[in-house]
Amino acid sequence: MREYSNKISLTKNGRGIYYIDTSIGCESGIFNNTGGCFNDCYAAKIANRYGYDFGKTVERHFINESHKRQILSQIDNIKMPFIRIGVSGDPSENWNHTISILKIISRCNKEIVIITRHWTILTDEQLKYFSTINICVNTSVSALDKPELMQKCLDQYRRIKPYCKSVLRIISCDFNLLNETGHRLAKIQFYSGMNPFWTQYLGHRKIINLFWME
Ligand code: SF4
Repeated sequence: MREYSNKISLTKNGRGIYYIDTSIGCESGIFNNTGGCFNDCYAAKIANRYGYDFGKTVERHFINESHKRQILSQIDNIKMPFIRIGVSGDPSENWNHTISILKIISRCNKEIVIITRHWTILTDEQLKYFSTINICVNTSVSALDKPELMQKCLDQYRRIKPYCKSVLRIISCDFNLLNETGHRLAKIQFYSGMNPFWTQYLGHRKIINLFWME
């Protein structure tokens, strides 16, 4: 199988969004599921198509000063107000490494949008650093998640809020309401975190308990 390069790069996707992954491949996401999250990870599918070992996370670095300057200049010049981290890997696999890259790219005048499943949890110290930069953490969550993972993600989404922008990124599905499981998952999707009224009224923990325990 082919291995990913450890050279960090700035990439533009088909929708014109720029991203710079601090790691590529996703050992944590593949651990319980060979196809990644929900057995349907887009990045894992692309990796399989081109013969890359997506189950082996490769941390990416600037290879020298000139490479660093080149990427910083590219970020400065893109015509978007933000760049993403967390497209073909998850920055939470090693927050220390991610923060070492953030300390460099945050010099550019762009918001940094992180997409994560919180495989490892940010420390208080790391969160304090987040409060000093222009960053928005998108926590991905889905009704298809096991209750422990959903609870962990929702807890982190709330915990991060006092430090920086924190957003829930709902991976939604069109569940079959005529099927018993589909009906239960549709209720989780509707009530848990995706609907501010119910979240405020019942709280995340109660909602998850209510529907997962049915
Ligand atoms: S965390 Fe992201 S990159 Fe990793 S398997 Fe899940 S969807 Fe794919």
